[in-house]
Amino acid sequence: MKTKMFVMNSTFVDTVETVNLEQQLTISAPVGERSHPRVANIKSDVEKIQRTLNQFPNRDGGPVALLKVDGIVGPKTIASILNFQTVNQLKKTDKIVDPEGATMDNLRAGPDVIPQESVSRFIVELPRVLAIVTAAEANMSLASSALSTPGSLFAATAFTRLDRHYHTKNSDERRLALARMQRVFFLVKSAVGHLTQGTIIADDAPLNLQENSFMYTFEDGFNSGKAPANKIERFKGIPVDRIYITVKGRKMANDGFRYAMLHELCHFVTGGKSGVPLADDQAYFHKNRQKYDTLSTDLALRNADTYARFAHDVIGQLDLVF
Ligand SMILES: [Zn+2]
Repeated sequence: MKTKMFVMNSTFVDTVETVNLEQQLTISAPVGERSHPRVANIKSDVEKIQRTLNQFPNRDGGPVALLKVDGIVGPKTIASILNFQTVNQLKKTDKIVDPEGATMDNLRAGPDVIPQESVSRFIVELPRVLAIVTAAEANMSLASSALSTPGSLFAATAFTRLDRHYHTKNSDERRLALARMQRVFFLVKSAVGHLTQGTIIADDAPLNLQENSFMYTFEDGFNSGKAPANKIERFKGIPVDRIYITVKGRKMANDGFRYAMLHELCHFVTGGKSGVPLADDQAYFHKNRQKYDTLSTDLALRNADTYARFAHDVIGQLDLVF
């Protein structure tokens, strides 16, 4: 079996954070390592960076002891910038905060969500993910019963979300779509059930494999179990039987975290030997809306994000951003 990896990518989120938070934290020139020619260390900029670093708990990249907010870059401020870059696993650990760059993005993202250990957070959120799946299934039942009762008064309502996400137009297409959806959501619940049996299906992503994403997993990881070694060179040796949560994923707000869980679970339980065609990444609702909206029913049924977005639409979170 060829291993396929899936990434819940976060390019979109970086854009959103920059737009929303820009006014809260901007500096006019780089702050940090004094010996570097591009660094200006303007007093008001330095104060902003010191104040912001102080807002982060140490485990999230903040200083061990609060920095003095004096606008002067001394060894403690430099050490704190380096610590922030290291803890947040930024590519550049140059001890400099540029006006735009990865360090600034991470500072702007803020410590508002205290990262929890991935596995425990996954478990904590599971009941609510299951509730979302259950709501989706209820909506599907409504659609099924409308299909078997021609002329049903609530048919139009029952088909709204199904048609919106799976682009179904007639009874045959709806019947086909519902059958597949029932299997996928059933498998998602089975995987979740295994977790409560003590099987680990979520884990922290290795520090060297963060993939600039929230979470990632592998095709049919749930069915593959411990058996196959990873076929992807870069991922050799890491088990395929779980969903990996990155540092970025750990910082997500709860609703986004649940969305990403459901998206990844759809990859995790389909394809391979699961008996259900792979739910792939054909188009993301939040990144490529036009493509998402024009997928054929067949492709929508092979798109993990369609399942996640359909379920969130049912609970009133069609426009959820994360
Ligand atoms: Zn995906």
